[in-house]
Amino acid sequence: MEIIKTKAEMQKRAKELRKSGNSVGFVPTMGFLHEGHLQLAHRSIQENEITVMSIFVNPLQFGPEEDFEAYPRDSERDQLLAENAGVDILFMPDHSNIYNQEASFEIKVNKRTDVLCGKSRPGHFDGVSTILIKLFNIIIPDKVYMGLKDAQQVAVVDSLIHYFDFPIELITVETVRETDGLARSSRNVYLSDEERKEARQLYQALKLGETLIQNGERNPQIIIAKVSEYIKKNITGTIDYVEIFSFPDLTVLKSIERRIILALAVKFSKARLIDNILIEVEK
Ligand code: AMP
Repeated sequence: MEIIKTKAEMQKRAKELRKSGNSVGFVPTMGFLHEGHLQLAHRSIQENEITVMSIFVNPLQFGPEEDFEAYPRDSERDQLLAENAGVDILFMPDHSNIYNQEASFEIKVNKRTDVLCGKSRPGHFDGVSTILIKLFNIIIPDKVYMGLKDAQQVAVVDSLIHYFDFPIELITVETVRETDGLARSSRNVYLSDEERKEARQLYQALKLGETLIQNGERNPQIIIAKVSEYIKKNITGTIDYVEIFSFPDLTVLKSIERRIILALAVKFSKARLIDNILIEVEK
């Protein structure tokens, strides 16, 4: 596996890959790799000649009160995991290399961000979009691989790719879970033993919502109320949101129809966890 640490070197390599006609799959991450990230890499390896994974904890997507400093990092372990997974190029730039000029432009996302994490984390998706525009231009991938665990991110990146005419196909990968249902996340290490036990209930809460829909409930407010009640009963963490929207447009629904997202965010003592399920409803 090649390790590249500067954008100049990555850009040079990306141009060579283009010239030699290799298809390039790209997996952007913030590192502290787990099985979720590795699933994205496996999918990219299957579908492309070259897989580039980036590891970059992007300060622009963290709010002032958020966990940028405390975000877990382990670059040596990440390198081993990426290499064993079969990643061809690991791009691990420094902040000073990526943001090496004054911020002469500002990316502001206007759609799909006034709800869910966009509402709770103002500016988050502006930061995500800024780094992805930069990484797309540096790596020039044919396909980018992203997890549905961050479904709102998928919705925003889908619109970013179309709006800026990036010739990149967005491939989404199902959420990878622990055996008890908890969605894999770099932030799970911040759960206390007690919180970790409770956290399995997040997925159970989503499954409860799904069952209600399968049994014919079509009123989003009733489902949201029952899922919230379940979380409050079984989890000591506090609810940031439990919401239902259309997907990927993220519009408010009067009645459950077509493709919807049931999403939640819960704050534990040191970690804020998110999870969601997408449900297809026949009319
Ligand atoms: P992160 O390092 O948390 O920014 O995540 C990098 C990529 O991995 C994003 O596209 C995430 O959606 C994806 N990802 C994170 N956790 C999971 C998971 N449990 N299952 C599938 N994809 C995931």
